[in-house]
Amino acid sequence: MTPFERRTRRVQSRLAAPGTDADTLALSPGQDLYYLSGVDRDPSDRLLLFVVPERGDPTFVVPALEAPSVREATWIDDVRTWADETGPDPVLDPVLDDLSPSRVLLADRMWAAVSLDLRERLPAASFGLASEVLGPLRRRKDDRELDHLRAAAEAADAAMADVRALGADAVGRTEAELAAFVEERLDAHGGTGVAFDTIVAAGPNGADPHHATGDREIRPGDPVVLDFGTRVAGYPSDQTRTVVFAGDPPPAFETVHDVVREATAAGVAAVDPGVRTGAVDRAARSVIEAAGYGDRFVHRTGHGVGLDVHEAPDIVAGGEVELEPGMVFSVEPGIYLPDRFGVRIEDLVVVTDDGVDRLNRTDRGWRC
Ligand code: ZN
Ligand code: ZN
Ligand code: ZN
Repeated sequence: MTPFERRTRRVQSRLAAPGTDADTLALSPGQDLYYLSGVDRDPSDRLLLFVVPERGDPTFVVPALEAPSVREATWIDDVRTWADETGPDPVLDPVLDDLSPSRVLLADRMWAAVSLDLRERLPAASFGLASEVLGPLRRRKDDRELDHLRAAAEAADAAMADVRALGADAVGRTEAELAAFVEERLDAHGGTGVAFDTIVAAGPNGADPHHATGDREIRPGDPVVLDFGTRVAGYPSDQTRTVVFAGDPPPAFETVHDVVREATAAGVAAVDPGVRTGAVDRAARSVIEAAGYGDRFVHRTGHGVGLDVHEAPDIVAGGEVELEPGMVFSVEPGIYLPDRFGVRIEDLVVVTDDGVDRLNRTDRGWRC
């Protein structure tokens, strides 16, 4: 049995469990669909639907031109195709009629056009989100997923070491040029493309947590925030370092960097099975508050990482999710001083049976 089939069977047993009133899962292209079927593609205007009933075999309804690649990627036997001339109705209607579901869980990130269409086709059914049953499965990574996440983190760590080695050679390059260098190094270390738009934010640009990498040239003394990731076998990395390539950093930078580094370490140290997500946020945030920068830490401490770079659970103030072995998330506190600079240090961690393991190990210091 492939891991994809095993997951689907687990989802079916959850759907069939006495406490679950949903009886059907309907997924369009996205990470939920990949997680269960092995079919990896982007949503498009042509309807592609994966229907998982609580009992029996799942069905794919796919546009004819997608059928060969879907069949090749998936363990599912029942792949039904529709043609552009007829549209999906002649194929989809009988599937839905046979099931006559009473409660359908839709992929959380399904396009509204698809979800509204399904609601019209099933006027008697009620609807919910697929995360109701998929959330608890997806947030606990299996060994194979952890291997991919580790490999992606290692590629990012190695790329960061190459960036650091540039030293004074980085001065005079633009943010965009440095981002291109990062991306070339990620590929060289076994990554495939980027997991999200690479952030290189120099000097005052670092005070914007999601700065769009641009044309600013790196100057001596500039703190530079580098936040990037690649993918290995579909699984992403996501890490941040803040460095100074040459020259003396601005006033207060060293103190702020020390505080953020300590906050990251405190967040990581708080991770243990059974601890709530809010306690991890508190551990990191209290270090920054004690240093007087509480109002300059303007985002959550972290986010779950899996097939999606941002997924459950959020590491956020008041978060009540209990940590379980196999969960992977970021710990990424930051301090942002408008018009001056920003500092963020981000590592991915995995919850283990008796504590925590860091996926990122590359140097966290600011000096190159
Ligand atoms: Zn972010
Ligand atoms: Zn990041
Ligand atoms: Zn992140």
